Amino acid sequence: MFRGRLVASHESPARLEHVLAELRRRPLGELREPALDETALMPAVRAVHEPRYLDFLRTAWDDWVALDPANADLDALPSVWPLPNRHGFRQDGWPDNIAARLGQFAFDSGTPLTAGSWRAALGGAACALAAAQAVLAGERGAFALTRPPGHHAGPGFCGGYCFLNNAAIAAQALRDGGHARVAVLDVDYHHGNGTQTVFYERADVLTLSLHGDPRTEYPFFLGHADERGAGAGEGFNRNWPLPRGTGLATWRAALDQALQAVSDFGATALVVPLGLDTFEGDPISGFRLRSADYAGIGAALASPGLPTLFTFEGGYAVAEVGVNAVNLLEGFERAA
Ligand SMILES: [Zn+2]
Repeated sequence: MFRGRLVASHESPARLEHVLAELRRRPLGELREPALDETALMPAVRAVHEPRYLDFLRTAWDDWVALDPANADLDALPSVWPLPNRHGFRQDGWPDNIAARLGQFAFDSGTPLTAGSWRAALGGAACALAAAQAVLAGERGAFALTRPPGHHAGPGFCGGYCFLNNAAIAAQALRDGGHARVAVLDVDYHHGNGTQTVFYERADVLTLSLHGDPRTEYPFFLGHADERGAGAGEGFNRNWPLPRGTGLATWRAALDQALQAVSDFGATALVVPLGLDTFEGDPISGFRLRSADYAGIGAALASPGLPTLFTFEGGYAVAEVGVNAVNLLEGFERAA
């Protein structure tokens, strides 16, 4: 649902297929497809997401169709939201109606939930976990090529095409696997609001994000420079909101500051939510990075010398997403 109309989703299967095709053309390592075993996956998923939210995701499609069998041909989208208390709505109510429950858990109307959403989201988590296991086993780099993406999904909410936060699940798995300090450096065009929220009160996972300024860019309600973490996590979140039109020089200066923060933190592993919607040709974003720029960005991301896990996030210039992703990964590989 975009500006009052149902439109084709920018988050399409072709995005992933282009990356896969480019990885086959310019191989960087073994391609693995992890098994999807829900029972085995759930402890790692529950380490990041709330039980009531996971219950919602698991049953939402069946509940949607049960509301009206004709819904089977439609996307499940929210149409009513319980805005915060100052508007008077209760935050402790739990409606049975799936139309209301969609509004409790989805922060936008652009994230259609369909028959395969839960299984696809679980597949993403399986991919992120397999990448974490590869890194824990000694790989210098691993790329979780997933869709749907994950960095907008928080402990108890979906949005921005995201249902399970693959980067957060991977970061937590690295922590649980023995890494004392994990840094998450989000380079998608959009603020990694979900990941920030997951770790906002923690000092063991540093969250950093370079993105379009939320005063003008989605997700609008988070991602400002003054969000520095809270409680034990005070000082362990940083944001670099950048204006529309930002090109390589300004973007790289922000990246260098973020990489310095990774080093200062003493990170032992790095997770990079990798969005390619910073590309100048992206249809829904406003930065001006070029295809040739991504190799240097990959090399910069290798410079801290850390085991590094990439998760596939945004990027909607479909044909170029594959080239840009592999340019970045190749740049990382050469410098690593
Ligand atoms: Zn994005």
